[in-house]
Amino acid sequence: MLKDLRLPTARRCFMELHEKGLDLGWSPMKWFSAVLELEVIERSDRRMESRRDESGLPLGKTIETFDFNAIQGVRLEQIESFAQGGSWISDARNLLLFGPSGSGKTHLSAAIGHGLIDHGFRVYYSQTSMILQRMEQARRDARLPEWFRKMERYDVIILDDIGYADKTKVDTGLLFELIADRYESRSLIVASNKPFSLWDDVFPDNARCIAAIDRLVHHGSILELQGESYRRRTAAGSKTNPKLNKKKPTAPSIPQTT
Ligand code: ADP
Ligand code: MG
Repeated sequence: MLKDLRLPTARRCFMELHEKGLDLGWSPMKWFSAVLELEVIERSDRRMESRRDESGLPLGKTIETFDFNAIQGVRLEQIESFAQGGSWISDARNLLLFGPSGSGKTHLSAAIGHGLIDHGFRVYYSQTSMILQRMEQARRDARLPEWFRKMERYDVIILDDIGYADKTKVDTGLLFELIADRYESRSLIVASNKPFSLWDDVFPDNARCIAAIDRLVHHGSILELQGESYRRRTAAGSKTNPKLNKKKPTAPSIPQTT
């Protein structure tokens, strides 16, 4: 019956807990509660794990692994507050992260994403050019409306590296449609190393560029990260500082892209 009811944890544990209860003199009520409690806890863990899988978030890029002393323009409390969810999600507000390559935009947006999943939200992370390719494919398959409906389930979509979306390679009109679709209904996190003044290179025309920026900033917070590339710094440090070298053995050279 527990199998029919799809209660796998209860099915696995009810006998063991029954025996434990006999030893400890539990009442039937106590035993029943213990079985259900375990099912609820494990179900929540399973849901969180599957949400982390579907999110596409880079693993390990969390608040705990981010060094807030290494960068200016953002404080731990700000990121913690975004990571908890709350009104910015229910009010469908946005977060825009600007900063040079290597300043931590991907890490911080992923850290917020992981935190939101821990708090029970659904998050979808993608490089902007990648999500555009998926949209393009959905349109080719005449599935674009379904795709939009599916994406509405996500409390937050993280569009990383919006500045690298190339209007000569993908139809960035779709990017405008996505931003317009989520305006005042669902949150976006957008990361960019290009200031707004260069977004003309992203959107197909000036009108849609202005309209997209307008929608993003209307209910949006902006964080501007300042400081030298963390990658460059750790790469430089690893050459001269053997201690650092030990800690960061994977920083071999200065990557040219984000
Ligand atoms: P961006 O997206 O701005 O180009 P990333 O977030 O990809 O930069 O950061 C580059 C690398 O440096 C990543 O491996 C990231 O985890 C790491 N990194 C950047 N800033 C920090 C920081 N303040 N503390 C710890 N790691 C950082
Ligand atoms: Mg990045």
